[in-house]
Amino acid sequence: MTVLSDIVPSFYKEILNSKISRLEVTETKATCDNCLRSRDKRFAFPYKPDLKCCTFHPYLPNYSVGALLSRSEKTSGILQIESKIKNREFALPIGIVAPFDYQFLFLNKEEEQFGNDAALLCPYYDTGQNRCSIWSSRGVVCTTFFCRSDQGQSGLKFWAVLSDYLSYVEMALAEECLVQLDFSPRDLSDQLFYLNKREFEQDEVIQKSLSKEEDKKIWNGYDDHIAFYKKCFAIVQKLDRKQFKEILGEQGLSLEDEVLDYANRR
Ligand code: SF4
Ligand code: SF4
Repeated sequence: MTVLSDIVPSFYKEILNSKISRLEVTETKATCDNCLRSRDKRFAFPYKPDLKCCTFHPYLPNYSVGALLSRSEKTSGILQIESKIKNREFALPIGIVAPFDYQFLFLNKEEEQFGNDAALLCPYYDTGQNRCSIWSSRGVVCTTFFCRSDQGQSGLKFWAVLSDYLSYVEMALAEECLVQLDFSPRDLSDQLFYLNKREFEQDEVIQKSLSKEEDKKIWNGYDDHIAFYKKCFAIVQKLDRKQFKEILGEQGLSLEDEVLDYANRR
């Protein structure tokens, strides 16, 4: 039997509602190491077995980046993260987001490019191992995506509701780190502009990195970005459940209730 705390990144284990952590979430149908979606003809179109549902560039919140950079083993994905930081590839204080050229490509893709177009493959995918190389601290979308559930539609609905809740958690914690590290609400809203962009200028369609000037302005005087991300991880690691509830506020706590509600409806 798998419970939720077995599959979420370890830094969430102490702070999530224990009823949520203990939820049974065994999924036997979505066999990711031998991708179901590349074999099962009942899906509208197949995915390539060496791309799977990883034709996606996830947002990684600052504390997850810090958790990965704190590991002694350097996977290919962690090397990618280091390279993104060094080359100003949209490694922001709030976390690492997809570069604008990728966001444009993803937004304008045909449906069947998902799972099939190697240009969309996640930078953290280990092509040699044919699997994720940052699994221990992967983002929320990746943690909660299942192409099929043992509980059918109600199981998929549960994962969607959990995804909404954990996305809220992800953003609340990333913002808390920024507040504790002296970023203003204005700095924060400026950074949200880089996530989920919808309108693109002509030069942004091919933009892979930030200019030195733009990057410096966003970073608010922090020069050592790796040390900054590690500080964010330390902030989240120190939180207890009481502090976490204060950060979540009423809206976050009502999303927690919704997760439990949908878990019971499966
Ligand atoms: S969740 Fe993704 S990797 Fe896993 S079986 Fe489904 S499509 Fe394949
Ligand atoms: S982070 Fe991992 S699970 Fe998520 S899209 Fe990338 S390779 Fe796939």
